[in-house]
Amino acid sequence: MRTIRLPSGQSIPALGMGTWRMGESATQRPNEIAALQHGLNLGITLIDTAEMYGEGGAETVIAEAIADRRSSAFLVSKVYPHNASRQDAIAACERSLRRLKTNYLDLYLLHWRGSVPLSETLEAFQTLKQAGKIRDYGVSNFDVADMKQAIASPGGEAIATNQVLYNLMRRGVEWDLLPWCRQRSIPIMAYSPVEQGRLLQHRTLQTIAQQKNVTPAQIAIAWLLHQENVIVIPKSSSIAHVEENRATLDLKLTPEDLQALDAAFPAPTKRVSLEML
Ligand code: NDP
Repeated sequence: MRTIRLPSGQSIPALGMGTWRMGESATQRPNEIAALQHGLNLGITLIDTAEMYGEGGAETVIAEAIADRRSSAFLVSKVYPHNASRQDAIAACERSLRRLKTNYLDLYLLHWRGSVPLSETLEAFQTLKQAGKIRDYGVSNFDVADMKQAIASPGGEAIATNQVLYNLMRRGVEWDLLPWCRQRSIPIMAYSPVEQGRLLQHRTLQTIAQQKNVTPAQIAIAWLLHQENVIVIPKSSSIAHVEENRATLDLKLTPEDLQALDAAFPAPTKRVSLEML
């Protein structure tokens, strides 16, 4: 698996699996576990979750999927902004650890910015890191102004990543956030890489996919993997889709493909405020 280096020196896989909407339905649960296990078998070890997903349900699905192979997985979870105070963030992390049946997270993120002062959250993250409960920490849905404030706060210099909405339809981050993070060697985690399925009907994507004998989802994911210092976390509860997504690591886009994608999904020509889903 291709990896990317976090500022701490820890390696993170470039392709992972998302889990939003998992853990919400008892009937879907076996499919979700099977899909995650299939991904692990194929070497997709990064699993992204949050205490929000299924209100803890997604974390319990992951616990079952990784039961006998915690050490080979790279687990990312996120704290709700309303749980992100000095004390509450520590308690929230401990609840996530219990649900995941593990004693550490590889990466812990603030899900989005709320009203709790960043300094408090960063203090809690530092305490958790010193206690060995998390190996790295970072943020999500932070625009450039939030990032500037965060890295200037005590503990902010260790921010490992910023997880944001980034896909062919949402290229606004290329204007300023992506270059700003790249300059500081902070990788971006691109969420909703296929725009939750909405990208897949796009004519250009379908044409390029047909020409290469792959699927539109694969083109959309391969395009993100082609970007420097970007980690991609598609969610799938389907074994067939997980296989497709794994295969994107070997899918090469030609300069002509990239040009056609740029024409259909233009890069930003001015600043765009960070969008979120
Ligand atoms: P995605 O863009 O990953 O889309 C998921 C949808 O695409 C599902 O319906 C899935 O269906 C389908 N899909 C996946 N792979 C394929 C494929 N190869 N072919 C066809 N359809 C496919 O959206 P998400 O919003 O789930 O984003 C990914 C992850 O990012 C989340 O699960 C979550 O972990 C994270 N996230 C983080 C946010 C944040 O605020 N930090 C916000 C949103 C997401 P199926 O299951 O049937 O395969």
